[in-house]
Amino acid sequence: MRSRIDFAPALTAATPAIDAERLIGHIKFLASDDLKGRASGSPELERAADYIAQQFNDIGLAPGGDNGTWFEPFELVAGLAVGEGNSLVVSDKTQSVRFTLGSSYYPLSTVPTESLTTPSDREENLPLVFAGYGLSAPDVRYDDYDGLDVNGKAVIIFSHEPQETDPNSPLNGNRPMPQTTVYKKAEAARNRGARLLLVVGDPSHTTDQGLYHSFEVSPDADEAGLPILRVRREEIQPLLNKWSLDALARQIDRDLRPRSRALKDATVDYTEFLARNRRTVRNVVGVLTGSDPARVREAIVIGAHYDHVGLGGRLSVTPERAGEVHNGADDNASGTASVIEMARAAMADRARFPRTLIFVTFAGEERGLLGSTHYVRSPAPVPIASTVVMLNLDMVGRSRGAVDVSGLDKGALKDDLMAAAQTVGDLEIKQEGPGAGRSDDSSFIDARVPAINFFTGFHADYHRPTDDWEKIEKAGTARVAALALEFAARLASDSRLQTQGSSQRPSAP
Ligand SMILES: [Zn+2]
Ligand SMILES: [Zn+2]
Repeated sequence: MRSRIDFAPALTAATPAIDAERLIGHIKFLASDDLKGRASGSPELERAADYIAQQFNDIGLAPGGDNGTWFEPFELVAGLAVGEGNSLVVSDKTQSVRFTLGSSYYPLSTVPTESLTTPSDREENLPLVFAGYGLSAPDVRYDDYDGLDVNGKAVIIFSHEPQETDPNSPLNGNRPMPQTTVYKKAEAARNRGARLLLVVGDPSHTTDQGLYHSFEVSPDADEAGLPILRVRREEIQPLLNKWSLDALARQIDRDLRPRSRALKDATVDYTEFLARNRRTVRNVVGVLTGSDPARVREAIVIGAHYDHVGLGGRLSVTPERAGEVHNGADDNASGTASVIEMARAAMADRARFPRTLIFVTFAGEERGLLGSTHYVRSPAPVPIASTVVMLNLDMVGRSRGAVDVSGLDKGALKDDLMAAAQTVGDLEIKQEGPGAGRSDDSSFIDARVPAINFFTGFHADYHRPTDDWEKIEKAGTARVAALALEFAARLASDSRLQTQGSSQRPSAP
């Protein structure tokens, strides 16, 4: 639900203004090509962490990380290490096609090991079965696996789904069905005992849309319980012809009757040497102790993720541009810079913050909110049970006079935000209802801490190499940060807000 609020003429903010020039300075640095898109696991992310810690230090915050440092390190999986000896061969009686990892096949899913000393998978002489589009969708009476035995076998399927461009298709029109995702196709094959899934671009496309280059640049894959390999159409075409698989796909497209079958004498040999790349990354934590001794043990967390998607790859909207720096100026240098400048402004006006403020920049967000998940599970300067609220800023660089605010499910939070908006002025507040669950605020919500997310909207540069600092609206960003800080000032003294320890809320079922 969106609502437009009309404001009285802007009043002077009670807290020192956010400095838009300093703000854009941080964004320029964090989103520079030098920092290579701040991928979790990269040395550039560590440079960004050191920079943020230096800023927190210069501002005069106290270190809030582990063992008196600014940092809260944790381990995550950042892509795959590729060993020697990977191979894939598809054969029938008279012909063999040998594929090359990265150039003619790559994994959409693997079951990687912890080191490259042993193969993560080895399959010899697996019988090969054709399973159409690999869909099991009984709700629309379409099942490529109906009556098909794939137990202990390799399965070859086409990408996407039948009739994918037909708006009248019973298979969800021209939109993909939920069953068409890699995960669902993996599940359908795995549940029936398949050992390996080969995916070929379906014949309704003239070019192979596989992301071979993206895998070469940043090896990565899902872990969906069995190896799923995308194979290049040009290489396997002679075998497709021999088995008439393109013709079968066209027949399926026509009448939606599955044409699955065992492929006589066809076999697959597969050896995989892939291991998880374990890396240590760091949240950066700075503390501004509350001004009221009776309330210092209660905290407000102000956070933003500072990692981004590096050189693209799987997390990019344009994976075909893998290798280019995805600068991540809006996502989320803008939020990171805001947190730094909010800390500076709060430090200059400490008396307004009776409760403690904890400023955190998170790593690992793009890989699944990992930094914030770590934060809420680990010892913090103020325990999570005594954290009254979390404010998250993710993509706040393109406000155009407005900001989306989600998570305002409580009366006091709403009142305080509206009062803050009155003070700061000139900013339309779009209330987005409950937490949207797409950023670090949701880790706090999961830990039963109310969390508010500030967001200025998606745009054409989202997760693309064009999310550059030149496109940041610095005055608008400063205004969003000023709003968040003014909001924090009210939250820091609002006695209606309680910690989990003091509240009577029933525990979640
Ligand atoms: Zn983000
Ligand atoms: Zn992102």
